[in-house]
Amino acid sequence: MTKPLAIAIDGPAGAGKSTIARILAKELAFIYVDTGALYRTVGYCALTAGADPSRAEQVAPLLKDLQLELRYVDGVQRVFANGEDVSERIRTPEVSMAASAVSALPEVRAFLLQLQRDTAVSQNVIMDGRDIGTVVLPKAGLKVFLTASPEDRATRRYMELKEKGVATTFEEVLADMIKRDYDDSHREAAPLKPADDAILVDTTGNTLEQSVEVLKKLALEAIG
Ligand code: C5P
Repeated sequence: MTKPLAIAIDGPAGAGKSTIARILAKELAFIYVDTGALYRTVGYCALTAGADPSRAEQVAPLLKDLQLELRYVDGVQRVFANGEDVSERIRTPEVSMAASAVSALPEVRAFLLQLQRDTAVSQNVIMDGRDIGTVVLPKAGLKVFLTASPEDRATRRYMELKEKGVATTFEEVLADMIKRDYDDSHREAAPLKPADDAILVDTTGNTLEQSVEVLKKLALEAIG
């Protein structure tokens, strides 16, 4: 069997990583791995346990009782925490902020590392996150750092949330996003940054189709 190919897509919130990766994975018949969902699940569990997501001494003890699992149902990733499907519950603005807080804790990053790597051992994957090209899959066959202006990114995220019926405002989404990006880029443990060998792609002003095309071209080149 030939060695599986991994495509790493990193970048700030709302750059279109998950939407683009999902479409591309379908077209290329790769498995899409959304690593943000894992951090969101830890953040969600911290909130439901009444823990402060930014405090290691409150979050770390919860990890030993947390059984996290990624399952694929009709090619779509679902996340299970202790057997319970939390895939929808982790998509609220509150959980986004809790995910960012727990993601700064080295204990949490270590807890999730192997699970992420395991998904890429025996199958072709497109994995998105913040540290995929730098830490999780440093030997990925293609690394993309996807970005866009904060206004563009906040607009996309706001539309997504509105569609789901989440009560929020554009200003709130923009402010949350700017804080989350700042925290993600400035933390000590695996900060958000492009890998040295990542290809930078700015999707500002692009339609979704245009961004998918750019990444598809890069992916096809990597597949060879
Ligand atoms: O990608 P998503 O917005 O779902 O990620 C939620 C949070 O999880 C991010 O703001 C980031 O703090 C954290 N995260 C991370 N490393 C990853 C994926 C997500 O730190 N590989």
